[in-house]
Amino acid sequence: MERSKKAFMEAQKVIPGGVNSPVRAFKAVGGNPLFIEKGKGSKIYDIDGSEYIDYVLSWGALLLGHAHPDISSAIKVAVDRGTSYGAPTEAEVTFAKMINRIYPSMEMVRLVSSGTEATMSAIRLARGYTGREKIIKFEGCYHGHSDSLLVKAGSGAATFGLPDSPGVPEDLAKKTITLPFNNLDAFKGLVEREGDEVAAIIVEPIPGNMGLILPGDGFLEGLRGLSARYGIILIFDEVISGFRVGLGGAQGLYNIRPDMTCLGKVIGGGLPIAAFGGKREIMEKIAPIGPVYQAGTLSGNPLAVTAGIETLKILEGPGIYDPLFKKTRDLREGLEDAARMASVPVYITSVGSELCLFFNKEKVVDYTTAKRSDTKAFSGFFQAMLAKGVYLPPSQFETLFLSTMHSDEDINKTIEAARRAFKEI
Ligand code: PMP
Repeated sequence: MERSKKAFMEAQKVIPGGVNSPVRAFKAVGGNPLFIEKGKGSKIYDIDGSEYIDYVLSWGALLLGHAHPDISSAIKVAVDRGTSYGAPTEAEVTFAKMINRIYPSMEMVRLVSSGTEATMSAIRLARGYTGREKIIKFEGCYHGHSDSLLVKAGSGAATFGLPDSPGVPEDLAKKTITLPFNNLDAFKGLVEREGDEVAAIIVEPIPGNMGLILPGDGFLEGLRGLSARYGIILIFDEVISGFRVGLGGAQGLYNIRPDMTCLGKVIGGGLPIAAFGGKREIMEKIAPIGPVYQAGTLSGNPLAVTAGIETLKILEGPGIYDPLFKKTRDLREGLEDAARMASVPVYITSVGSELCLFFNKEKVVDYTTAKRSDTKAFSGFFQAMLAKGVYLPPSQFETLFLSTMHSDEDINKTIEAARRAFKEI
């Protein structure tokens, strides 16, 4: 850790908090963040030469693991053709068609460079399309850091106890109504009172930013039905769940067709790209064919699109999801066993290739129950696992991700490490 420690000291002189995104700083778990030298498959290597099994995977982006050979080769070929043109390419059309084939609800697609841009643009478009200003989001769901959405926003915010950020104008935040997740009655009550003023409801259909939480029976169906009745645009933020809980994301898993969808992370194969899309009628309101403005110098960047196409090609092929999901289930069972053996109360959620271990005696169904988790116990567990070569997300309120490169040996090693770690905390 010596070199990482030194690097962190240097970093703090020129980068606020030493990091370019807050949760990376390890504030919630204590200690120094590792500075990474390289990643390969399921592993990352820090600048001190230590190896870790990686369950962060660039916060879920690397479904195929680090430095996948096919993606690396494709990027190497693309890089020699130039890295950005600011003009359209055929590859963007290919990519948009692939996204539309896998997510048919995205009848038209626009590419952007981050999940934040995708959700921010989707909200503006929904407001422009409906002529209404209010939006609804759920407590603990994170949709990036744009002003309208940085209200009760989970993960970073939950970790640092900053439910709202200074700098977000109060008048704007007032237009964002927050409701408890998994509470259809609350949503129903609200839309009955003021549904005709609400432009959009944005939801992580399977929230991954207050830990991992599953939607209860009928919750998403209820949102779909009620939002349609009141002319509210239903936006699924599948930046995490997209391609992770199945090729077709949460909308495929639960067979629900949202009006708009935001994708990110996995679709870029580790390069900065995201997308938003939806009903043709809505998407046609965006510039240059409509009046709602949205743009980006690097949008549809050729390197990122290349990585994205390559990623989706592999994901559409055979033999990807079944083994990946089995390993996630194996890890879940192993962790549950290990916790039971050490008499540590935990509540574990998992779906597809995602998993969360709450240090919580009760069932976690929303932000309120998630917040009752024992964050001290989590920190102890995190540090004990790190010392055994397992890199977990450095906050109780984040989700573990697996990749296709995680082997049975990785899973067994992780379970073995957990057996010991549970006893140490
Ligand atoms: N939506 C969700 C569900 C996310 O998890 C995230 C990032 N963690 C975002 C949006 C924002 O994406 P980005 O960090 O690429 O801006």
